[in-house]
Amino acid sequence: MSNYKINTKCVQGGYQPGNGEPRQIPIVQSTTFKYATSEAMGQLFDLEAEGYFYTRLQNPTNDYVAAKIAELEGGTAAMLTSSGQAANFFALFNVCECGSHIVASSSIYGGTFNLISVTMAKMGIDVTFVSPTASEEELDAAFQDNTRAMFGETIANPALTVLDIELFAKVAHKHGVPLIIDNTFPTPVNCRPIEWGADIVTHSTTKYMDGHGAAVGGAIVDSGNFDWMAHADKFPGLCTPDDSYHGITYAEKFGQAGAFITKCTAQLMRDFGCIQSPQHAFYLNLGLESLHVRMPRHVENGQAVAEFLAAHEKVEKVNYSGLPGDEYYEVAQKYLPNGGCGVVSFVIKGGRAAAEKFMAGLKLAAIETHVADARTCCLNPATSTHRQMSEEQLEEAGIPAGLVRMSCGLEDKEDLIADIAQALAAV
Ligand SMILES: *Cc1c(COP(=O)(O)O)cnc(C)c1O
Repeated sequence: MSNYKINTKCVQGGYQPGNGEPRQIPIVQSTTFKYATSEAMGQLFDLEAEGYFYTRLQNPTNDYVAAKIAELEGGTAAMLTSSGQAANFFALFNVCECGSHIVASSSIYGGTFNLISVTMAKMGIDVTFVSPTASEEELDAAFQDNTRAMFGETIANPALTVLDIELFAKVAHKHGVPLIIDNTFPTPVNCRPIEWGADIVTHSTTKYMDGHGAAVGGAIVDSGNFDWMAHADKFPGLCTPDDSYHGITYAEKFGQAGAFITKCTAQLMRDFGCIQSPQHAFYLNLGLESLHVRMPRHVENGQAVAEFLAAHEKVEKVNYSGLPGDEYYEVAQKYLPNGGCGVVSFVIKGGRAAAEKFMAGLKLAAIETHVADARTCCLNPATSTHRQMSEEQLEEAGIPAGLVRMSCGLEDKEDLIADIAQALAAV
């Protein structure tokens, strides 16, 4: 499918049925697969032959959908995981071990921030957080001899900062480590980080890819561009024999194009077992079939809502990289020429009480912790996800008490704006 445009890949990528085979991706609802001899199955265990033996390792439904996501991102291999959290953990842990160090943007999803700063710290993996707007010199200064990966989000959830991917990739490569980018918010329809130098791309497919709030899931894509063997001293897991797999050296046996995902499947999926169920992969694929049609509408609604809010007297500030005055407008013009996503955040004058009154008055937009599905939803971090913080702490974290995050869905933008207008009028 590589010669086709992204719209075609969304619809038909990953799975091309043969004569008389199902038109839609079949759900292979089976934990295990049958073989005539144990010798034949043994070949699969040794990674000497291709095929399926146990769904925790691989399943045809998941592989079709992962192959589609690899085509969309322009990668060489991909795998699905049970959630976005599992995808980011696997992507990082596949190149790190006790004693390693990660350089990460400080502007990332709260769950990933916790994963890296608390849970991975308990595994002996350190982190240095850097500003998403840091200069090349500042980024350089964050690296150590034991740094094994650099991490950031194309558009951060919920801060909506936009990352200078090309700069981050340049610095990561200067220090001989891969750049891992979480591309959940723009999706490959609006940005393909590999084209800007990212080596590994991750997703919470729970968001726009699924797009209907139906199934939690994640994905990891390898660009195939990182030369592990050129940095073999840093990545022994990929470049020296794996005793738990009969002495296979992944980077030799599977090359640059396949080593990362094969190791991630053979070791991390085998041992941690965070698989996506084939049923969920099927739902995810239904979402992917219309991703290229939905994303422009999310952007159109997000832009219209952001413009309306920016002109409203009761609104203090709007964050949306499609607004010319936004701090990230310039960088978004480069990486997101067709727009970013449908998530907008804004500060209502009058703080927490005003935000609460506003949200309670909305009729179409529901109060939810979710973002990025077909139905518009909103959240006031000060009274929900960040309610343990004081007013001062909220200000310091850049999340003022009056901040509302609104994820614009696929409804008519005039209805959304009318809903917001009537709720603001009551504040
Ligand atoms: C939601 C989200 C995650 C976590 O994904 P889950 O599927 O909820 O585990 C990771 N990164 C980003 C950018 C997200 O928005």
